Amino acid sequence: MRPPLPRNEGPLTLTRGAADRALVVGLDCASPALVFDRWRAHLPHLGALMARGAHGPLRSCHPPITVPAWRIMASGLDAGQQGVYGFTSRVGPAPDDLALTHSGLFEAPAIWDRLGAVGLRTTLVGLPGTWPPFELVGKLVTGPMTPEGAPFTWPASLAARVEAVSGGAYAFDVPGFRDLDPEALIERVEAMTEARFDLISALADDDDWNLLWCVEIGLDRLQHALWHAVDPRHPRYTGPSPLADRLRAYYERLDARIGDLVARCDDGDTAFFVVSDHGARPMEGGVLINEWLRRQGHLRLKREPTSPERLALRDVDWTRTRAWAAGGYCARVFLNLTGREPEGIVTPEQAPALLAELAAGLEAIPGPKGDPMKTRAHLADDLYGVNRRGAAPDLTVYFDDLARRALETVGADSLHAEANDEGFDAANHDWEGLLIAAGAGVAATGRVEGAALMDVASMLERLLGVAEAAR
Ligand SMILES: [Zn+2]
Repeated sequence: MRPPLPRNEGPLTLTRGAADRALVVGLDCASPALVFDRWRAHLPHLGALMARGAHGPLRSCHPPITVPAWRIMASGLDAGQQGVYGFTSRVGPAPDDLALTHSGLFEAPAIWDRLGAVGLRTTLVGLPGTWPPFELVGKLVTGPMTPEGAPFTWPASLAARVEAVSGGAYAFDVPGFRDLDPEALIERVEAMTEARFDLISALADDDDWNLLWCVEIGLDRLQHALWHAVDPRHPRYTGPSPLADRLRAYYERLDARIGDLVARCDDGDTAFFVVSDHGARPMEGGVLINEWLRRQGHLRLKREPTSPERLALRDVDWTRTRAWAAGGYCARVFLNLTGREPEGIVTPEQAPALLAELAAGLEAIPGPKGDPMKTRAHLADDLYGVNRRGAAPDLTVYFDDLARRALETVGADSLHAEANDEGFDAANHDWEGLLIAAGAGVAATGRVEGAALMDVASMLERLLGVAEAAR
C-alpha cells in the first residue's frame, strides 16, 4: 500500500473558513508563460488578481488530459479513483468496448457533492465531463461533448434561461474545430466565449451559490490551431504574425470578461481562482505505438496493412495478441490478459515481466533523427492508488515528455509521423497549467512554485471551511 497523499493547500497561504463563496474560472489550456510573463502587461485584470493574491504554475495530473483533469481538479481524487483516463473510456471487458467518456463514468465524489452534503450550493458551467447532467445542490450547465439537442442542465428548467441569456447562440464547443481555417475558428470561438461569459455573469448575479465553477474551452481550441504562431520553440514558428496577435486579443478578451465577473462578485467575502488543467507546448510529432507493438510481435493483425492506416480493433487477431494501445497525448497500453479480456492470452503470472519488457522497449525508442527521447512508461500501480472497474491502462506512456503523441497508425515505414492521427495540430499539452488565487482568505504571497492540480479542491474547501476529501 502506498502511504496516503498529504492534503494541503500547497504553497498558498489560505485562511480556513475565510470565504463565504468561491468563484473559479477555468481556462482550458491557459499557458503560464503567456499570462504571467509575455502578455502580462496586456492582461490588467488578471494582473490585478495576481497582485492582490498568489499565482504560479499548476502541475497537471496523470494523465494531463482535459476530461479527466477537470474532474480530478474538482475532486482532489486521481484518475484511478475516478475510473476515467481520457476522452474515451473502456466500459466493458472487450478491447473495443470503448465509449466517449460521460459524467456517469466518474466514480469519485466531487467538491459539489461534499459542499452539497453540508448545504452549500454549487453552480457549474462548461466543466468537461459533466454531460449528461446530474442532480446536485445547485445548478449545472454541461460542457464540451454535450450532444446536439440533448438535455444539458440541472434543473431541466435552467435550459430555457440559457437560451434566453444567449439569444439562442449558446455553444458547448466548436464542432469540427480541427477542420476550420484559422479565421473561421477564431470567429466561432470568440462568439462561443462571449455567450458563455454572458451566461456565467447572469448566473453569478443570482447570488445563490457558494461555489461557482466555470470552464471556457475556447483557448484550448485556438491554441491547438495557432500555437506555432506564438512559440519560438515550434518547428513552424516564423516570427511575429497576425495570428499571434489574434490569440493575444483573445487572451485580452478573456481578461476583460474575468475582470467584469470579479467586479460583480467582489464583496470582500469571495475568493477568486483562475486555473488551467494543463498548458500548451509545440507538438513535435507522433510515435506509432501500435506499429511498434506489431513489429515486436506483441500485436497481430488478421490482415497485414499495405499502406499506413489507423488501427481498427476489429482487425486485431486477439488469439495471438499480447498488447495493444489507445493513442492520444499519451499512450494507454493494455495487455490482453486471461480472465480480463474475453480472448486473453497473457496470464497474470506472465504480466509483470511483459510489462517491464514493454516499458523498457518503449522508453528506448529513439527520436526521428536517432536521438534519445525523454519517454516514460508508467505502471498503473505507480500512478494510481486504486483501479476502479479495472479500467486503468496497464502502462501509461508519455513520449518525449509530451513533445510527441502516441499515434494509432499501423503499416507505415517509420515509427515517427509529423501529424496527429486526425491531421495537423500545432500544440500538445504541457505539464504546467496555471493558478491565480486572490480574494477572501488568500494571502498576497506573489509568485509561488509547486502548486498542484490535485490540491485545488482542498484549497477551496479550506477557504470555504468544509472538510476536505479523504484520499
Ligand atoms: Zn484541457
